[in-house]
Amino acid sequence: MDDIASNIRNLRHRVPPDVKIVAVSKTKPVSAIMEAYNAGQRLFGENRVQELLQKKDQLPSDISWHLIGHLQSNKVRSVVPFISMIQSVDSRKLLRVINDEAARTGRIIDCLLQIYIAEEETKYGFTADEAAGTLDSEEFRSMRSVRICGVMGMATFTDDEVQVRKEFRFLADSFKWLKDRFFTDDESFREISMGMSGDYTTAIGEGSTMVRIGSLIFGSRSR
Ligand SMILES: *Cc1c(COP(=O)(O)O)cnc(C)c1O
Repeated sequence: MDDIASNIRNLRHRVPPDVKIVAVSKTKPVSAIMEAYNAGQRLFGENRVQELLQKKDQLPSDISWHLIGHLQSNKVRSVVPFISMIQSVDSRKLLRVINDEAARTGRIIDCLLQIYIAEEETKYGFTADEAAGTLDSEEFRSMRSVRICGVMGMATFTDDEVQVRKEFRFLADSFKWLKDRFFTDDESFREISMGMSGDYTTAIGEGSTMVRIGSLIFGSRSR
């Protein structure tokens, strides 16, 4: 389980080539990330801004970083200059702040709308209706510095595969619904980020285009 390079190789065999693998390196040291990097991995995800900022300065600049955890408005400025995608956009207000900071720096930031699909109370996200309301708003239409590339969701933490499958199916249906309503001619809107170490095969079966894998690559964590 400690051999990061072979974990990545095994995973690549089990994930279809058109599904992207985000290596979730939260809590793991720079040395572990370098092992994955040397095995060819270039796409990494972190969920905490402070930790991401500390690590990325010690790592190669051709790594693509995805933010996958809740982002506070006051930390947007520190990630906008380099982040390649913010997967965890969970409110209209946050989207506005990202847009405004991106406009200041002259970047366009790729974003996923995090959709609330779990039964747990603690997960952040839009409902599908709230996401539609945001996309339908004048405010959103005025945003020139964010590009909405799809949706992201986290299933309930449970062994009940039927439940998890149902939640992933709901996310895929929400993606299709939003695509038909707002993005029919927009090639950028194409990602369904769902699936983690314990449920990625189910997620791929339900149409995931991007899996976020931590412990299967780097070993288990305490958080
Ligand atoms: C930690 C985390 C993951 C990866 O979890 P594993 O079970 O270790 O694969 C994926 N997505 C998000 C949002 C996470 O916070």
